[in-house]
Amino acid sequence: MAHIVRARWLVPARGECIADGAVVTEAGRILRIGTWREIERLAGSDDRITHLPDSALLPGLVNAHTHLSLSDMRGKFRSTKNFAGWIARLAARRFLRTEATMRRAVEDGAAESAAAGTVAGADLTYDGRFDDCLGRDGSRWTVFVEILRFGQAGEARFREALAEAEQLEQISRGGSPTCRAPIRVGLSPHAPYTLAPEMFARVCQEAYRRGWSVSTHLHETEDEIAFVERGEGTLHGWLSAARFLPRDWKPAGLRPIPMLAAAGFFAGPVLVGHANYLTDEEIQILARSGSSVAFCPRSHAFFRHKDHPWRRLLAAGVNVCLGTDSLASSPSLSVMDEARFLFAQSPDADPQMILDMATHRGAAALGLANEVGDLAPGLAAEFCAVEVPADSTDPRRAVLTATGAVRPLRV
Ligand SMILES: [Zn+2]
Repeated sequence: MAHIVRARWLVPARGECIADGAVVTEAGRILRIGTWREIERLAGSDDRITHLPDSALLPGLVNAHTHLSLSDMRGKFRSTKNFAGWIARLAARRFLRTEATMRRAVEDGAAESAAAGTVAGADLTYDGRFDDCLGRDGSRWTVFVEILRFGQAGEARFREALAEAEQLEQISRGGSPTCRAPIRVGLSPHAPYTLAPEMFARVCQEAYRRGWSVSTHLHETEDEIAFVERGEGTLHGWLSAARFLPRDWKPAGLRPIPMLAAAGFFAGPVLVGHANYLTDEEIQILARSGSSVAFCPRSHAFFRHKDHPWRRLLAAGVNVCLGTDSLASSPSLSVMDEARFLFAQSPDADPQMILDMATHRGAAALGLANEVGDLAPGLAAEFCAVEVPADSTDPRRAVLTATGAVRPLRV
């Protein structure tokens, strides 16, 4: 028995929208898509039909960069240009929490994400132990366990992170009866101001050897670049005062991306969070390595950054996708809110590209393009419905300018 979903519009990530369209699904997979007229003729008498006469139907959304363990931080921080001050306050707050609070934050963040139509995502976490709840609702999470600190402390954290990631992989391999979607595993060297370039390279070699993914934060702030290149700026001041830096630490004389490329970090694809400040040469490094960039538009605005180079990245062939970042710098975990915010900021942008970044491109960044991220035969029957006006002739624009909530739909 098939389950057919008929909607005012079908809005695939790629390809033409279909007015009064329908998706035929069976056993949780899409069998075919077409106009209702075409599909109606094929429908069996016992097929179930869900009709959404006021809505556009989109693929489920993909959140390419978030930190679910910070989901109890909503509204705790004001928008600021002072990233170092923000991260210092965040670090102080996060370590004051109990384990129960942290576990609850991950559970709440996962539930909020699913309710906002997210079907897959990248969760970067400093404590992989609490991510064992993911996948229970069928969402496909890749957990990137973070590694940070210099010197011996960094070595110890590297070993600990490997153990946490292995544990998650074990759970997902069949241990847990409650896990409906397997948890995928990755490693995340946190950022160039929290660990050495040699450690970045070692982490990515270890991840690739095990078939795991790699994600990190790069070129998030101009301050990060000043820290790495010249040993200057507010981040440098904070990390020096906190005695976080080893005695023999020296500026690289290079910006982070070229420094890491020279250390062997970009030997394969990396999912790079932010990448807010890029030269053309750095864009080429990302393009050559097949890396993706997770752009987080509202977090970008929270820190009042200069214009994001997402269009230059796309023009150079880099896969750009959307992330929400955490609730410590973003008001919700809704990828559609990010897409709508970006479209409002860039009204001349192609609505199709923005929705592609919210769906298929995120799936591609996570190696899930054959699973989710589009309306196409063989992919999961996991959708989002968005109410659009009856007279809309451009459904993608209508979805991005609508204010109503996204309704998740799994059949
Ligand atoms: Zn982040």
